[in-house]
Amino acid sequence: MPRYVYDFIEGDRSRADLLGGKGANLAEMTRLGLPVPPGFTISTDACRAHLATGSPPAGLFDEVNTHLREIEARLDRRLGDPHDPLLLAVRSGGRYSMPGMMETILDIGLNDATVTGLAARSGDERFAWDSYRRLIQMFGRTVYGAPAEEFEQELAAVRATAGAAGPTAEQLHDLVETYKKIFARRVGHDFPQAPHEQLFLAIRAVFASWHSERARIYRRQERIPDDLGTAVNVMAMVFGNLGPDSGTGVAFTRDPATGAPGVYGDYLPDAQGEDVVAGVRNTIGLPELERIDPVSFRRLLEIMATLERHYRDLCDIEFTIERGRLWMLQTRVGKRTPAAAFVIAAQLVDEGMITPAEALTRVTGAQLAQLMFPAFDLTAAPEPLAVGVGASPGAAVGRVVFDSAAAAAATEPVILVRRETNPDDLPGMIAAAGVLTSRGGKTSHAAVVARGMGRTCVCGAEALDIDARRDECTVGDRVVRAGEVISIDGTTGRIYLGEVPVQPSPVARYLAGELNPEADPLVAAVHRLLGHADAVRRLGVRANADTPADARRARRLGAAGIGLCRTEHMFLGDRRELVERLILAEGPAERDAALAALLPPQRADFVGILAAMDGLPVTIRLLDPPLHEFLPALPELTARVARAEALGTDPGRDATLLGAVRRMHEANPMLGLRGVRLGLVVPGLFAMQVRAVAEAAAQRRRAGGDPRPEIMVPLVGDVRELAAVRDEAERVLAEVDDAPEIPIGTMIEVPRAALTAGEIATEATFFSFGTNDLTQTTWACSRDDAEGSFFGAYLERGIFPVSPFERIDARGVGRLIRLAVAEGRAARPELTVGVCGEHGGDPDSVAFFAEAGLDYVSCSPYRVPIARLAAGRAAV
Ligand code: PEP
Ligand code: MG
Repeated sequence: MPRYVYDFIEGDRSRADLLGGKGANLAEMTRLGLPVPPGFTISTDACRAHLATGSPPAGLFDEVNTHLREIEARLDRRLGDPHDPLLLAVRSGGRYSMPGMMETILDIGLNDATVTGLAARSGDERFAWDSYRRLIQMFGRTVYGAPAEEFEQELAAVRATAGAAGPTAEQLHDLVETYKKIFARRVGHDFPQAPHEQLFLAIRAVFASWHSERARIYRRQERIPDDLGTAVNVMAMVFGNLGPDSGTGVAFTRDPATGAPGVYGDYLPDAQGEDVVAGVRNTIGLPELERIDPVSFRRLLEIMATLERHYRDLCDIEFTIERGRLWMLQTRVGKRTPAAAFVIAAQLVDEGMITPAEALTRVTGAQLAQLMFPAFDLTAAPEPLAVGVGASPGAAVGRVVFDSAAAAAATEPVILVRRETNPDDLPGMIAAAGVLTSRGGKTSHAAVVARGMGRTCVCGAEALDIDARRDECTVGDRVVRAGEVISIDGTTGRIYLGEVPVQPSPVARYLAGELNPEADPLVAAVHRLLGHADAVRRLGVRANADTPADARRARRLGAAGIGLCRTEHMFLGDRRELVERLILAEGPAERDAALAALLPPQRADFVGILAAMDGLPVTIRLLDPPLHEFLPALPELTARVARAEALGTDPGRDATLLGAVRRMHEANPMLGLRGVRLGLVVPGLFAMQVRAVAEAAAQRRRAGGDPRPEIMVPLVGDVRELAAVRDEAERVLAEVDDAPEIPIGTMIEVPRAALTAGEIATEATFFSFGTNDLTQTTWACSRDDAEGSFFGAYLERGIFPVSPFERIDARGVGRLIRLAVAEGRAARPELTVGVCGEHGGDPDSVAFFAEAGLDYVSCSPYRVPIARLAAGRAAV
């Protein structure tokens, strides 16, 4: 016969799966000898059995009765005794806390007979009748779904006629009669008078509340599995509503908002816990309890210290004082803000309660990320105008501009608002305080580029109907014109009209070297924990950076080199014309001339980056995107040519460009002529880039520097592609005097490369996983479109809990990575292996990469501290 019921004296906190969080901690407090009212926990097993069959498992209520009898014996008081009744509280409590989502029923055991016994025992008739009316209302609502409002209206009416001292016992007695009528009318039968029946019905109602609509929604939001079920805690009632020497409260052992030491909490005299939640009366600060009941207050402080020492963490507590006697109703390791998490972890190390390694487990990379961005002060924020995808965190305020050139020319902060962005928008994105798009998800161009620059970005705000030509956008019936001020929150995706005040982040200022670590307790805590992460981590952290400024920033933030320098950004702006010349070249002479013109600016870029990262590796990737991305878009060009023809003027160069764009058009450009394929079919292109790298390094060396470039070939799928590029590159390198040894490696970003990694490693000094493309090609999901189209439905249906472009898909893409690491290292033991896709800055993914044995991760500069922390956490 399986067992379902455990007395509080039997369990402990390690059994939260079985007893739920609340039950396990009640047992733990009981074991510690703290004043917990006697009780027992019905296990989650029982709930799961109930949910599976619709009825309680066989023998459950016999077991409940056995435990109940023990409690009755201990308290010398019986459920249903008309002279001195035991009353019970029935509370839910799952493995994970779901505040307010599930049911509680208090005062079980009251009926027409026991209410007089309670009145006699307590010497307080009003209290007894008030407790009875509470039970009828709670029971009606929770067990039978009777609407609370009808009860509330009657209560309000009685309160209105009562004097300042509140309703009399007679009035409450009459109210109970009214409540019973409401109950019978709404439920279809009388309020059950048998106390044991009340108890069993309440237990079943708590089981059933697991499947309530709000509980389901909450679980989906918090990613709590749907099949865990809840435990039920049955506890002898203690009363906080027995007069001025009674009360109920909540307390925290440290401030859960800031982490500051000291006790925090609220207290409500002469009340039951539900009154605090209902906000019937205002609570008072916990320190005032010292004046009201100094003995209980001191005892509470002692208990809080005991709990902190025992749990070695911030605890939150619910307690009740019944006529001067303190009772603990709940405790748990308390939720806290990201700032408090860091501050408390550092304090606990100082207090000798935890080791520095444990402190790393008390904070997360996601919390550090939140602390690094400025935040809106939302105390007086208006309703959001619309909500999009929070794609790059931060809080940005500025005037709306719909055009990148206007953004680039602006003299005051602007928000660049576009349907979507493309490489042409780069100058505008750099100049803008924030970027807002109506299309695309977290891996859209806008999102990736904005994150790379640390620019606040909200994307995919579909409610925005943008008409850039008319310089306006419409949201419902509100038209937002260029020049109007808006505020965008890149963390929550919320968009506000007008200016919402912004608070700068002290952590970001410290990381940028603007604040010293002793500036405030939060900064000091971040400094210490990051320092410890650096000391223990095995995984290196590099940055993805394409400019000297980004490289310098990354270095300040702790990057040990560049893991991905994308060279395509070096072909934009005024160099675009040179690229056009290359594309339109007729014959080798024109092509060589175009390449020769591209070489000097490219070399200058590399000199700057190598100088910024002197002494550290800089992995430079040869050109990757399809060349037509550097030409004007087909519709734009077609319109220009058509306009010229209509006006009878000569379209000139546009006509030639149009021909080239049409010729180069691909239905599937991401699977088309890009990456290594470009190097193999556009003669001289990669050779020019390799020469620019080698000459830049030689120049840096002659200037006394220590340049450490590496050359990386993108989109390789077969070793022969890499071998061909490598041969050509080595020939070029051999021609450049003073260049250092330059390793040549490859990205692993298509499944075939991973599957043939052993072969590819024979030609590669290093691998770098391009997990953006590797995810795209493994899932056959467009990284540019999927999030804006079907991912929403997939997340909703739980097909995956989070986008695989955001967190590495360990089972699928991760399997390819493990395979490639093993086979690559088997073929070449000294192979260096890193990752440079967006996942390199995602804390959960970093943990996977550490576990998979990679040498480093590379991520956008602003994510470097987050990756350092995550790598440290992975090592403890
Ligand atoms: C990748 O594919 O993961 C990668 C880093 O390259 P890109 O994002 O430039 O395609
Ligand atoms: Mg790629």
